[in-house]
Amino acid sequence: MREFEYYQPKTNGELLAALALDGARVVAGGTDIIPRWRKERLSATCLVDISAVGGLRFIREEEGVIEIGALSTHADLIASPLIQNKAPLLAQAAASVGCTQTRQRGTLGGNLVNASPAADLAPALLALNASAWLMSAESERCVPLAEFWLGPGKTVLTPGEFLRSVTFLPPQGACGLAFAKLGKRSGMAIAVASAAAYLVLDERGNIHTARLALGSLAPMPKRSPAAETLLTTAAYDEMLADRAASAALIDISPIDDVRASAAYRRLACKVLVERVLKEAYNQALGRLS
Ligand SMILES: Cc1cc2nc3c(=O)[nH]c(=O)nc-3n(C[C@H](O)[C@H](O)[C@H](O)COP(=O)(O)OP(=O)(O)OC[C@H]3O[C@@H](n4cnc5c(N)ncnc54)[C@H](O)[C@@H]3O)c2cc1C
Repeated sequence: MREFEYYQPKTNGELLAALALDGARVVAGGTDIIPRWRKERLSATCLVDISAVGGLRFIREEEGVIEIGALSTHADLIASPLIQNKAPLLAQAAASVGCTQTRQRGTLGGNLVNASPAADLAPALLALNASAWLMSAESERCVPLAEFWLGPGKTVLTPGEFLRSVTFLPPQGACGLAFAKLGKRSGMAIAVASAAAYLVLDERGNIHTARLALGSLAPMPKRSPAAETLLTTAAYDEMLADRAASAALIDISPIDDVRASAAYRRLACKVLVERVLKEAYNQALGRLS
């Protein structure tokens, strides 16, 4: 039996004090960290359970910015009318996570800080151009989500710091948003590959803004600058979607693992990118007045 300290802070102040302790490690929903802890793949000597900290579980829009607290669960995202109306791809991504129990307990913060290349919320939030708000005893800082991950299991969080929330601007105008995930089966499957797209059309129907994000296709979730450059200012058609999907391959570095080969992931990337672009474009076209 391993010895460890357990803390359950109730306020941000108590949380920051606990995080200053040697070997401190945050536990939110515990769906990822507790199985790893049990398998002794984690060396933390001090578990800081943040589930009772007030003010970290909310989804709101204030002064034109949508903010989601780190303790919001996947189930919260799915049930939120604000997310359903303004960022439905995020609800869709949350709905694709694990099983009911995982979605009830697993949090947005845990999904992002876990830094898995396969984290389902990551491509959706990258497509929304979200930022992460990090808090420590000394300061608060905002990091674009695209710069939040350093590699598998690694983020820019420093010791004593935690993820408080993520923010993004609500999509505006003739926009379309889409998320697609390929797993080995339809439920309870970690992504073999995933993609999320955000397109805004100008008044002539050309693509004004394009964001394309990919999951499980590189050491960390990432956007595809090559595809985005190709799409921006272009007129959408199936050939453009095909070219953009080929361009996205420049930005990925898939690996062979237990779920799929790198070659299969490349094929999956192409199919998923074409699918999300088509869906996002059709939605945007429907909003063009
Ligand atoms: C059966 C099963 C199926 C799953 N299926 C999927 C799936 O389909 N898609 C998917 O994306 N994930 C999946 N997961 C992984 C996991 O459940 C989710 O990523 C979940 O969102 C993690 O959230 P959590 O609150 O449980 O994280 P925890 O396990 O509590 O924490 C995960 C990591 O994040 C850190 N952390 C958590 N919150 C914060 C914070 N606010 N600030 C700083 N550090 C923090 C912890 O220290 C830990 O390192 C699955 C897990 C299980 C067990």
